[in-house]
Amino acid sequence: MIDLHTHTNESDGSFSPEQLVGEATRIGLEALAITDHDTFTGYDQARPHAARAGLELLCGIELATKYRGSSVHLLAYFLTNPPAAAFREWIVSMQTARRERNQELAAKLCAAGVPVTLDELGVRGRKLIARPHFAALMVRKGYVKSTEEAFDKYLDESAACYVPREEPSFEEAVSHIRAGGGLPVLPHPNRIRASPTKLEEFIAEMRSMGLEGIEVYHSDHSPEQTQFYAALARKYDLKISGGSDFHGTAKPRVALGTGIGENLNVPYRVLEDLRALR
Ligand code: AMP
Ligand code: MN
Ligand code: MN
Ligand code: MN
Repeated sequence: MIDLHTHTNESDGSFSPEQLVGEATRIGLEALAITDHDTFTGYDQARPHAARAGLELLCGIELATKYRGSSVHLLAYFLTNPPAAAFREWIVSMQTARRERNQELAAKLCAAGVPVTLDELGVRGRKLIARPHFAALMVRKGYVKSTEEAFDKYLDESAACYVPREEPSFEEAVSHIRAGGGLPVLPHPNRIRASPTKLEEFIAEMRSMGLEGIEVYHSDHSPEQTQFYAALARKYDLKISGGSDFHGTAKPRVALGTGIGENLNVPYRVLEDLRALR
């Protein structure tokens, strides 16, 4: 079993890179990819621990892009190591856009009567702050009862205080990833709000933009969705990927490797097939 989609506390997961490697080793994963949002710091920190544990560790990253007016995530694997200077600069520009978004979001929350400050969010010298950190703080401060309530009332795209982040277009992001030697993969296609027919149209277009893989196996996919995405992968000659999207206690239902209620078991062959492209 492998897991190609996980987060550490260098983005919005709760496990430190060392703890994540520990958990992967404990459950006997054959390979682990760290795919933090907008940062390689978690992967960099995990490397020596993985080497010591004899765990195969892959570098990945998860980015947010704009596709037809909506935010669509994109995973990248197999980037040159260390990442090319141009790619690193591009990532830094996204971190800057995120910081600016966070400032605006904090201001909007204050105006809405639920004040949070960036200082409160930045405890432990964390560099990357994502909306789940806002949600956790709002729970701690007693403004809301749960993360879900924080998103529903304040943080979700449809909620009162939402601040859009400057995101690269899907096509631009795919180009940057490929220029950096990476393999662009569409994660959790079920998050794209579209009918199956529309989704197929989107996937065909994304393929023509340079997308090379699709996450067929994901904790949030039903067996029917998994089958549908596998069929799309075959039809559009996309590589198949899979992972739990583990976030530790930040998403307590999702277990590393095995997903929700053991609905995942991604075989090593998936990684071999992905690698065959590179
Ligand atoms: P950010 O990158 O700061 O915009 O935060 C995005 C992250 O927030 C996603 O990766 C999810 O983990 C989480 N998220 C987004 N929308 C929701 C939602 N409605 N409920 C719970 N978590 C969400
Ligand atoms: Mn996340
Ligand atoms: Mn995602
Ligand atoms: Mn993710």
